[in-house]
Amino acid sequence: MADIAVTLADKRGTLPADDKLGFGKIFTDHMFVMDYETGKGWFDARIVPYGDFDISPAAMVLHYGQAIFEGMKAFRTEDNRIVVYRPVDHLKRFNNSADILSIPQMDVDLLHAGLNKLIEIDKDWVPQSLGTSLYIRPFVISVDPFVGVKVADEYKLLIILSPVGAYYASGFKPVKIKVEEHFVRAVKGGLGEAKTPANYAASLKASEEAQKEGYTQVLWLDALEQKYIEEVGTMNIFFKIDDEIITPELNGSILNGITRRSVIQVAQDWGLKVTERRISIDEVYAVHAEGRLQEVFGSGTAAVISPVGELSWKGKNIVINNNQTGATSQKLFDYITSIQQGRVADKFGWIGE
Ligand code: PMP
Repeated sequence: MADIAVTLADKRGTLPADDKLGFGKIFTDHMFVMDYETGKGWFDARIVPYGDFDISPAAMVLHYGQAIFEGMKAFRTEDNRIVVYRPVDHLKRFNNSADILSIPQMDVDLLHAGLNKLIEIDKDWVPQSLGTSLYIRPFVISVDPFVGVKVADEYKLLIILSPVGAYYASGFKPVKIKVEEHFVRAVKGGLGEAKTPANYAASLKASEEAQKEGYTQVLWLDALEQKYIEEVGTMNIFFKIDDEIITPELNGSILNGITRRSVIQVAQDWGLKVTERRISIDEVYAVHAEGRLQEVFGSGTAAVISPVGELSWKGKNIVINNNQTGATSQKLFDYITSIQQGRVADKFGWIGE
């Protein structure tokens, strides 16, 4: 494996108090960097002081958006170990996104080693109190100075770290969601399964409008028929109908969420029936009318579990579980966060030090 050169920062910053952390605004002292050139492959893996860097105004990413990213978290356990949640699964998804965007594959072992080394150097930035974590953002951008659409020949990979506060500072609060009828997030055969900036750019207008109308986020329907449920904001979605947990099957336009996988594994381990299949918004409204829709929740790295209390579709609102957090949502949240924070045994082998 390639060596990772380290240049330490002259001055170290300090971790702010937990209630000042917020999300994605504060960065640690160092970052991991690696470059790519066609013919040479990935080279010069290194850890350097965190800071701005130069790219050409003609850098391809600024014009054509050939870029990918990941989002994962490290936690400080009660007994003061630092663990990363499903790092290899995240890095494998990073490579899957790379494939979709025609970005060269990366060596997962090298990235994993680089990430661990970076976290070790910046370990004082990992907060400890319940719900806080170190958010990890790996990303790749195409940097050839070239104005013209093609697959790039030069890339830069970085990993930056950001200590983040508790998502639920004042406890769970079920969210109000607008079922989006006009805008679509991704199409089959498109980029939906990749973590790439284009998907997030495509989501902005719809979320902005939904927020103006008083909703927290939008529920995305499929682009072709606007009938089948895909995702909720930047989370995967689950429905508890009677005693069964249902989530849309992966179809190429949905992100293959790591938390989604955890929810499926845990629920099955608890003996619950979990089904991945197409589910239409008509069906959700129909089972609600029959009194069978027990719970709806989103899953993702940021929130882990986000209960949905209300859905609005074509001007018709439904309230789920009296706008209260359901027992299964709560139990999944408690259990997955306990594994992340080392409070229960890691029986699935999800955390790595
Ligand atoms: N869907 C989208 C569009 C997302 O951005 C995310 C967040 N990465 C998710 C789902 C949830 O994925 P994960 O559980 O891996 O964070």
